[in-house]
Formats: sequence, structure tokens, C-alpha cells
Amino acid sequence: MTNWARELGRGLVDLSQLKAQNLLDAPVESTESFERVKENFDIRVPAQFVEAIKNGNSDLAAQFIPTLDELDFSPQELEDPIGDDAHSPMPGLVHRYPDRVLIKPTFHCASYCRFCFRRYKVSTSEFKLEGESLQNVLSYIKSKPQVWEVILSGGDPLAMTDARLTPLLSGLADIRHLEILRLHTRVPSVLPSRINQALVDLLKKTGKQVWLVVHINTASELTPESLEAIGLLQRNGITVLSQTVLLKEVNGTPEKLEQLFRALVRAGVKPYYLHYPDLARGTQHFRVPLDEAVAMVDGLRGKLSGLCLPQLVIDIPGGAGKIAVSSENLRKKPDSSFEMRSPLTGDWQKVEYPLQTNETQPH
Ligand SMILES: *Cc1c(COP(=O)(O)O)cnc(C)c1O
Ligand code: SF4
Repeated sequence: MTNWARELGRGLVDLSQLKAQNLLDAPVESTESFERVKENFDIRVPAQFVEAIKNGNSDLAAQFIPTLDELDFSPQELEDPIGDDAHSPMPGLVHRYPDRVLIKPTFHCASYCRFCFRRYKVSTSEFKLEGESLQNVLSYIKSKPQVWEVILSGGDPLAMTDARLTPLLSGLADIRHLEILRLHTRVPSVLPSRINQALVDLLKKTGKQVWLVVHINTASELTPESLEAIGLLQRNGITVLSQTVLLKEVNGTPEKLEQLFRALVRAGVKPYYLHYPDLARGTQHFRVPLDEAVAMVDGLRGKLSGLCLPQLVIDIPGGAGKIAVSSENLRKKPDSSFEMRSPLTGDWQKVEYPLQTNETQPH
């Protein structure tokens, strides 16, 4: 067994294990409800965080330990919150934007995060991209010369073994018009031993420019092991970015976001996206009100280095696409001047640019 398979196996996956370690905040009579929580969405608490959670790290507990709040479904919450199905020409592939496609080669993960927006498929779907379904996806990409980039998502693509990744990666390597290979993964945070030289070699062998976006939500996830995993990727020419989900009680304050973003930049990781949580069922307790979220993230500009600032993004529910959101900082006035809002003081200031006209002017 590989080191990482052993580490994965040490994660906590059922209610009895959580109870035995005193990790479940549960009166006896709620056992049945917790069973329902687990039925809705699997449990996998990463081994590397168990000690920290036992020692009271509530940011980590809230991300991985199931709660009964997950049974509160709001009417606005959806099965397929970002409308992937409508843009999926075949199983395992989403093609929403012209120059890039998203591949979901697996629905399994190295951890199950209680706020997951793909929870309706993750961990329960038996779909695996292999054999004929893999050939179909590869043929689709081959037939679309405008596809410049492939994004491996999931589930977690790095929860797959090297043996399962190999046919996918070598198939992609053979597609000439494909230049960029991007992986979205939680593994450097939740299963750092998975990032080993053999994996790095597999990725390099594709000959594509490889970018890796690590999903990480709090500074405490950057353990020495995680930092080592990130370092190994970086030393091998893989650019590492991060994405974070904005989560109340986990990272939903300016202080916690600042701490996380500075820790990432210190590790040479550029914060790319901060996601407002999608409308997945049973996740309302994780949402900061949207206007507060926008104001909070906006307040970081002017205070933190631009290197530390990700874009706050929302996937418009239903599948209309991803948008960057911020509070208004530019207004056009009827007299064609502009008003601009200072990130330092919040004050609006009038700015005029020399008038541009399309009419031919006499010299
Ligand atoms: C989010 C998303 C992408 C990636 O978008 P970027 O803005 O390039 O990070 C690609 N495809 C799909 C289907 C997506 O949902
Ligand atoms: S790793 Fe990603 S896809 Fe998997 S459970 Fe966590 S948030 Fe969902």
C-alpha cells in the first residue's frame, strides 16, 4: 500500500468512529438524524486534522464534522446548484465556456466537506471516467479545436490512483491543440502525501503547462506536510493557485481571510477565487449574507497586498455562468465624467478624462 492510501485509510468515515473519538456533538436521541445526515452526504474527516479537531480547532471541525444543520433544506437550495447538467454534452464533461472544458473523472474525494456544492453527486455517484466514456470525452475535445484548456475537477481528481489517472492524462497529452492542463483539488490540504514524485512525473509527462488550484479555506490547513506538498509541485514547474469557499464560522471574518491569504502568498500560492457558497441543499448555515460578504471582501482591498486578494465569485444559480462581484466603485455621470470610490477612505471622487468623440475633428 502506498503512503497516501494508508493516510486516506486513517481518515474517519463513520459515525461510530466519530463518536468513539468524542467528535460528534450529539445527544443520544439524535443518532437517527445523524444517520440521515450521513445518508445525504458521506463522511470523511482527513486523518491529518483529527488531532487538531480534538484539540478544539473549530474551523476544521466545521468543515468536516457533520451536524444536524445539514438537514435544514431551504426552498431556494437546488440539487444541481450551478446547472452543470444543462452544459454537459456527455457524462463526465461540462462545456460552459468556449475555450475550456471541465472534466469530472471521479465523484470521490479525499475528504467530504460539509458545505460541498456538488454533494448531490459527490460520494454517491458510481460514475467513473474510463473505457468508452473516457474515449468519448477525449474525442469530443479532439473535435473542438477552440478548447485550449482542460480542467480536471470532480470529486477530486487526485483521489484517483496513478493507474487510473494515466489513461486520462496520456489521452489529453495526445491532443495537440490543448495547451493548458488545470487541476482543481483539495488534496494538498487534506491528503498531502498524495503529492509525490510519481504523480508530479505523470503530470509533467503530459508536456502541457500544468496549473494546480488547491481548495483551502483556513490557514490551519497549511500544515508542514501541506507546505511540503505545495513546494514539491512548485519546484517541478507547476503553478499553484488557491480557491477558497467563504464560510461562516470557518473563515467568514476579515481577520481570518487575511491570515489565510497572507499564509498562501508566503507559500508562493496566489489566491485565485473566493467562492460565495452555491445553493446546495443543507448548506444555509455556512452562508454569510451576500451584501455583507461583498462589503467584507471589498474592505480587504487597500489593506492587503494585491497578491493576497482573490476575486469574490458566484456561480449564478441555474448555470448562467460565474461572475466576479464587488461593490460599486465606478459610476458614469450624465455629463460623461466618472465618480470613483477610494479603497482607502470609501469616499467618492469626480474624475474627468479628455473627451473622446468618434467624429472627425478639424486639426
Ligand atoms: C468555473 C468553471 C470553469 C473555470 O472558470 P475560470 O473562470 O476559468 O476559472 C470552467 N468550466 C466550468 C464548467 C466551470 O463551472
Ligand atoms: S473535496 Fe471538493 S468536491 Fe470533494 S467534498 Fe470537498 S468540496 Fe466537495
